[in-house]
Amino acid sequence: MQENTSFLPVYTASPEQNSGYIRQMLPLMLKHNIPVDPINYAVWYHYVAGINGDLNNAVDNLIRDQKPFDFKTSLNLYKTYICNATVDSFERINSRLLRLITETTMSVTTTSEKVSAAGDNFHTKLNELISAENAAHLKSTLIEIILETTQLTEASKALKNQLDNTNKEIEQLQNALTHVHATAQADGLTGLLNRHAFDKTLAELIGNAATQNACLAILDLDHFKRINDSFGHLVGDKVIKYFASLMKKHTAKHHHVARYGGEEMAIIMPDTTLPEAFNVIDQIRRALDKSSLSNKNDTETIGKITVSAGIASLKVVDTADTLIDRADKALYRAKNTGRNRIVTENALSLLSD
Ligand code: GH3
Ligand code: MG
Ligand code: MG
Repeated sequence: MQENTSFLPVYTASPEQNSGYIRQMLPLMLKHNIPVDPINYAVWYHYVAGINGDLNNAVDNLIRDQKPFDFKTSLNLYKTYICNATVDSFERINSRLLRLITETTMSVTTTSEKVSAAGDNFHTKLNELISAENAAHLKSTLIEIILETTQLTEASKALKNQLDNTNKEIEQLQNALTHVHATAQADGLTGLLNRHAFDKTLAELIGNAATQNACLAILDLDHFKRINDSFGHLVGDKVIKYFASLMKKHTAKHHHVARYGGEEMAIIMPDTTLPEAFNVIDQIRRALDKSSLSNKNDTETIGKITVSAGIASLKVVDTADTLIDRADKALYRAKNTGRNRIVTENALSLLSD
């Protein structure tokens, strides 16, 4: 099905990162006696890349409980967290919705048939009432009318109950859809928007004729390879998560914070002028600059980590590519002029301390 393709995982790792992941995966798979087959490869690739937090939790729980990673377990992890999670959820919601629609339509049809038959009947009974020859005839006709009215009231009560239940179920389905939608948009490690959602949000912003004063910032952690080399990939992942939380903390609700790829993040900022965008990004830069990170119960100091950023503001003629390109060039300049700084496309270099 064509539309399902958008739910395939989005892989943004560079070839170099992928080699790093393999170097981490193989010893882990060996340690847990896991055959290297495509299913296991996918599961453990996702695990070391930290693409999907739920999968990592599930694997960590299995390790903690010393459960075997047999074929069934691996396949289950693969199906639940990698391959079909979103598609399956959509299909489940879809089939519940179809069942609801069918059941409700049938109930409404049955009740309306009853009402229509009762309408005809009332007409006949009215004629009988008018032409009733004696009290006994009048009485029996009235009793029939009352019985029929009671049945109608019951049918309408039953329909109301069913519609109430349907409403509740629709509410549950709406919540489930919102959850699936959020999962499909989120980056597994940081919870920020993933690359797919970033592309979509930026395209929408640019396609909207009413858009004014929008900016795009691209932020890249400085010398991040050193963190991985000195402390390992998992510590690197924690730093990325921490940085993501700083970005969320210092941005406004209407800013879209995304993991652009690896340790590179992007913030789409609608209704934000270039100086305003600079202030927001500078708060993030300063907050990271003054953080002192440590690992493993504060015994190991990770040291200072800084970030460089480039910001571009949207022009009427921009496409996503031209806007990204200008933000990227500004970032490049920030890196080349000393790092731990922000460069906007209009300024040569805005040093922030
Ligand atoms: P620069 O200041 O020029 O940005 O130096 P850098 O070392 O940060 O260089 P670059 O941005 O080119 O490299 C990014 C490195 O970040 C490469 C890769 O090992 C690491 N990295 C990318 N994604 C992840 C990730 O998800 N987790 C971890 N732990 N490391 C990552
Ligand atoms: Mg970097
Ligand atoms: Mg980078």
